[in-house]
Amino acid sequence: MGDDLKSRVQKLGESLVGWRRTLHRRPELGFEEHETAAFVAARLRELGADVKTGVGRTGVVGVLRAPAAKRPPVLLRADMDALPIEEAPGRPYGSEIAGRMHACGHDGHMAMLLGAATVLADVRKRLDRDVVLCFQPGEEGFGGAEAMIEDGVLTEHGVGEVYGLHLWSLFPVGTVQLRVGPAMAAQDEFVASIVGKGGHGAMPHEAKDPVVAAALAIVALQSVVARSIDPIQPAVVSVGSFNAGTAANVIPEAATLRGTLRSFDDGVRETLRRRVREVLEGTASAGGGRLEFTLIPGYPAVVNDAAAVARVRAHAAIVVGEVNVVDPAPMAAAEDFAYFLRKAPGAFAFIGAGNTARNIVAPHHSPHFDIDEAALPVGAELLARIALG
Ligand SMILES: [Zn+2]
Ligand SMILES: [Zn+2]
Repeated sequence: MGDDLKSRVQKLGESLVGWRRTLHRRPELGFEEHETAAFVAARLRELGADVKTGVGRTGVVGVLRAPAAKRPPVLLRADMDALPIEEAPGRPYGSEIAGRMHACGHDGHMAMLLGAATVLADVRKRLDRDVVLCFQPGEEGFGGAEAMIEDGVLTEHGVGEVYGLHLWSLFPVGTVQLRVGPAMAAQDEFVASIVGKGGHGAMPHEAKDPVVAAALAIVALQSVVARSIDPIQPAVVSVGSFNAGTAANVIPEAATLRGTLRSFDDGVRETLRRRVREVLEGTASAGGGRLEFTLIPGYPAVVNDAAAVARVRAHAAIVVGEVNVVDPAPMAAAEDFAYFLRKAPGAFAFIGAGNTARNIVAPHHSPHFDIDEAALPVGAELLARIALG
């Protein structure tokens, strides 16, 4: 393969920043990405890709055909949705939509994939497999990946491998970070109401106090990870919300806890789900009450294929130099690229986008979040190399 890819991507520089800023100004929430999808589809049509819109509701798929495909297609994915956050003021390219912000970098993901697509369209003769350019809606908790898979994005094209990137502001620009095996956590939430019997605060013996039961339950839940999970396996149980009562001298009827579960292994995930419920049930009944429990399943863990990671690392070494290809610790955040990785081998990598010298340090989902746009050509070149590799 001729190594003009770097210079081809560099020539795109202005376009990458332009696309990113255009998209940044017009953030749309999950499954509402109509303007975004139209923008992406128009660019893909200009490149001569076969474009299909409305895949997984608001998703867009562009296929670049190899002259003579010798192996199954590779899927490259960018997510498209923004967040219900009011952006910190003062940026020339800031959000024009009140209460909406690209605060996770998905604007940059789209720009990088459009950049890779542009380069790949130019060197299409060199492709020995079709490239499926997957612009996914609703990553931020909406299950857009599942929606696209159900709509056949993998089966229709017989996709053989899947790759995705995430810009990451907590990693320095100029690095590419990915690991073998579990990379990001499985996430579930629960809502648990302990229903007792309300009464006068001065006559607790006449009531069945759900507040005390819920307080004990929070403490008891701390034993789930400590006593039911193999200490070699990471897991988290956090209660983030406790609601009960309205007055100082009234014992309420019920207390409601909401919490989140994180894990990196399917077995651990099942144990967390089961033990959390058992502990809550036991504590509720010990207090004379009963439990109403709802588990809200979230995304499974992101698990990278070892051979795919090795290939991405080799490509990344050409893009940023071997010393800048890093093996990070697993991350407790969740990401629905996990669903693609359950259907086909591949890898999910982080593109460093932070820069302490330029004060680009805010975490994702912060109103101050930003990326160093020097990360955009890194991701675009890496995606192009993966497709050709
Ligand atoms: Zn996010
Ligand atoms: Zn994200």
